Amino acid sequence: MKFPNIGDIATKEVVSIDIKHTFEDAIAKMLKGEHRNIIVVDNDRYFVVGIIDILNLKTSKIDIKTPLKDIQLVNVPTINKNQNILEAIDYLNNSIEYICVINDDSTLYGLITHTDITENIDPDTLMDNYRLEDFLKLGRRMKWVKKDAKILSLLEDMVSNLYDNVVVVEDLIPIGIFTTKDIMRLVKNDIDLDVEIEKHMSSPVQSIKKTFSIREALTFLKERQFKRVIVVDDDGTLSGIISQKELITLTYSKWSSLMKEYQEELRDINKKLQTKNIEYENLASTDALTGLYNRHKFTQLYLSSYASMVQRHNKMSVILIDIDHFKKVNDIFGHNVGDKALVEVSKMLLLVLRGVDIVCRWGGEEFIILLPTADLEGAISIANKIQKSIREVKIDKVGTITASFGVSEVREGEEMQDAINRADKALYIAKKSGRDSVRSESDI
Ligand code: GH3
Ligand code: MG
Ligand code: MG
Repeated sequence: MKFPNIGDIATKEVVSIDIKHTFEDAIAKMLKGEHRNIIVVDNDRYFVVGIIDILNLKTSKIDIKTPLKDIQLVNVPTINKNQNILEAIDYLNNSIEYICVINDDSTLYGLITHTDITENIDPDTLMDNYRLEDFLKLGRRMKWVKKDAKILSLLEDMVSNLYDNVVVVEDLIPIGIFTTKDIMRLVKNDIDLDVEIEKHMSSPVQSIKKTFSIREALTFLKERQFKRVIVVDDDGTLSGIISQKELITLTYSKWSSLMKEYQEELRDINKKLQTKNIEYENLASTDALTGLYNRHKFTQLYLSSYASMVQRHNKMSVILIDIDHFKKVNDIFGHNVGDKALVEVSKMLLLVLRGVDIVCRWGGEEFIILLPTADLEGAISIANKIQKSIREVKIDKVGTITASFGVSEVREGEEMQDAINRADKALYIAKKSGRDSVRSESDI
């Protein structure tokens, strides 16, 4: 869980006074430290006296020497310091301004406000809490070459594998970077490309440590007006490269997946955020863990593929994939290993499928593939191919896994959900008939 605990965000410097004292004592204590409010403690119940109460006092006839216990004070709700911030959402209504944060024994730990809570349930929090290494370990693509690599042979690789920058290393320490901008310069000046990259790379390079938070990395990039930056381990060896765009997309995408995970708890805050018109969800089109498209993006792509299918009268199919007995993987090897398995399967899917195919993480361990040019028969044979490839993926600690498949062909005039429902029914049959198999809508 990446959202902070209440105790982490509470203000600890809170002045308090026991209820047996007088109003005058309370005011004196407030004025002394220039505090805008003071907590009045009555055993395990808490009240607040604020600046407004002092003003009220001045306009009313209350004797300043009145004991606090005889004054009508505003009760302040309490929350345990070890509770997660999400559990404070219930307090997010405008009638409550302060919440007392208490220790396990009900003594006062600190104070939090409305703003403290809302400010800490947003993507900004993730930017502070996530380190670059958390993102880099998700297997993001990075290319590096040794300094004596020839530019000409590198170019072919850049063109065929569609990457636009490469880190140049010497003994794994980054010493330069070579981007499409450098290529433009070389081509423009008609420079011989059959030379070592070291001659034409941009050097030296600045790098940042992988323990930097996302926010620190973004600040670094912004200050220098860099598009991307090289990330290194503690000993200076290359760990990855990450761009400003990736950092922002990943943060929002991670945030949106957390939002989904804690949907129940977040119903209320979601409503609030929606009314504020914050459509973070839409900003992110990829799933944070696997880098595959998410549901939102899949739906968009489905709709445009569907439109072109209708126009061109071609066939299009979907494959629904669900990993078999995945709960066991988590139970036996832990959630982290389960996550790694999902990343490995995703990588394989991207490798096995063609560029036009749309691969999406549909839910936990479910994937959906849209084949914009395949009929049912074609889709079944692709599903068979994937089935075989999944069996061949070697997952650290786990070994191998299998998956079940449901295939359907999209029909003109139907909704996306109709085609998915048929694939889902076929998948259900595959599961029932012993898993590790492909079934299609013709088996329903
Ligand atoms: P089967 O599909 O073969 O019927 O069995 P299963 O064990 O895969 O069944 P089910 O679909 O009910 O459970 C899916 C499990 O996948 C539940 C959850 O523990 C796990 N899971 C879902 N999302 C994630 C994730 O993001 N990471 C990890 N590690 N596990 C996840
Ligand atoms: Mg499932
Ligand atoms: Mg499953």
